[in-house]
Amino acid sequence: MTPADPIPQPPTLAQWLDTCGLPRLHAQVLLHHVSGLNRTQQLAHPERALDAQTVARLDALAARLRAGEPLAYVTGEREFYGLSFQVTPAVLIPRPETELLVDLALQRLDALPSTATPRLLDLGTGSGAIAVAVAQARPQVQVWAVDASAQALHVARGNAARLVDAARPGGPIHFAVSDWFAGLDDATPRFDCIVSNPPYVAQHDPHLDALRHEPALALVGQQPNADGLGDIRRIVGAAPRFLQPHGWLLLEHGYDQAASVRNLLHAHGYGGIVSSRDLAGIERVTAGQCPQPPGFAADSKIV
Ligand code: GLN
Repeated sequence: MTPADPIPQPPTLAQWLDTCGLPRLHAQVLLHHVSGLNRTQQLAHPERALDAQTVARLDALAARLRAGEPLAYVTGEREFYGLSFQVTPAVLIPRPETELLVDLALQRLDALPSTATPRLLDLGTGSGAIAVAVAQARPQVQVWAVDASAQALHVARGNAARLVDAARPGGPIHFAVSDWFAGLDDATPRFDCIVSNPPYVAQHDPHLDALRHEPALALVGQQPNADGLGDIRRIVGAAPRFLQPHGWLLLEHGYDQAASVRNLLHAHGYGGIVSSRDLAGIERVTAGQCPQPPGFAADSKIV
């Protein structure tokens, strides 16, 4: 360095935002994650000097984002149902459309007689988003949550520990490593609601490239298949043994799978089959009620 060179200074907040090469919102989220300054504080003090250590951390995280890693993995968190979930690459990043599944499960749990002890099972819980959201929103509901991945369950347990009141009337969430129902024994009580956001992406779906940072287990499952419905078929076939007589199975599925899932539920004798649309207007969740004795009139409609 010659005496004429300016002494390198860590940038101000505004300079870092302008030069980091990220969309503004992502840059602001990183800055908040690293410095604790929220967007309002960032806007109010653009001249604030960043120390060298902060800049080094910001630059390292920004490089991961520029390389295509999802923001949720870079910050390690994602909001779902108004709660902040920790996520790692071992779990699918919770999506806003899955909040519909929580809403529909809560509606059905709320419709149960007040004398009953409502029970819900979340299959393939991943980060625990659905199970934790239900447990948090309805303290009296008993919640079970399973996943085939021990690493995912570790993340889910951590989220439950931080977000669910351990002293809630329904008790803590019962977590278990289980390939769908395989790890549940006959002592497991029957459920009023079984919910799942299972893998449903088809084996050669072109979208998989955009999802390459997320676990294949959560997207295409253990046995990737041509139409993406392999795991939904297994769940639909096995669920009745674990449902209360009028219990509901609620499944998230792909944008073009609703009719297939309704047909599948129908073929297995479920009643009250209904598909619901997400905020984008896409049929995203299909529900069916546990197969009923002969004489029960199943109807099928879209709401
Ligand atoms: N909804 C996810 C997507 O972005 C897929 C999740 C899943 O397979 N359950 O395609």
